[in-house]
Amino acid sequence: MARYTGPACKLCRREGTKLFLKGTRCLTEKCAVERRPYAPGQHGQSSGRRRKASDYQRQLREKQKVKRIYGLSERQFRNIFNRVLKEPGVTGEALLVALESRLDNLVYRMGFAVSRRQARQLVRHRHVQVNGRTVDVPSYRVGPGAEVKIADASREFVLVKHALEQFGRQQPVSWIQVDTDKALGRMTQRPTRDAIPIAAQEQLIVELYSK
Ligand code: SF4
Repeated sequence: MARYTGPACKLCRREGTKLFLKGTRCLTEKCAVERRPYAPGQHGQSSGRRRKASDYQRQLREKQKVKRIYGLSERQFRNIFNRVLKEPGVTGEALLVALESRLDNLVYRMGFAVSRRQARQLVRHRHVQVNGRTVDVPSYRVGPGAEVKIADASREFVLVKHALEQFGRQQPVSWIQVDTDKALGRMTQRPTRDAIPIAAQEQLIVELYSK
């Protein structure tokens, strides 16, 4: 299925939680989840009175939530899941680590973009370098020790400057170091589950895909 291109706030309202898809707006009182805390659509306001969700519904919603946070299509998300299935360790944790290790996510976490969507655009437009080489693939997997940098020629880019001015407003993560003056960041270590600030029950996703 193609990537969703509709209103981002609708996705948050559907999941009933803030997914932080629109950058700095998400931190203001303009956030749609805060103004209209019910599901979108004609029956949105009555959805809270529905029957208790089944196990399948809870698993599906959790998968949709995480997939939407990282802005992936079903196929991309499933491919990542299939890949981490072959890795040792806890599959749910490995899934989140793989998602966090994507280049577009790192660009967002390092504060070079205000949202993952904007980070993906920066990568695609060749403004980002990994270990000194331009990488234009948002799904590129960044490893521990790698250096991610905004290319010198792009440092004055208005989106980057605005994002760096906002740096510090989002939740910091312990496994990333950032030099905002140089628009340069380093992934210091592989993240562990407790160092990934995503409120998700990843085990439910594993259960869903294991059916
Ligand atoms: Fe979601 Fe941000 Fe829109 Fe709030 S403002 S509903 S967090 S995308």
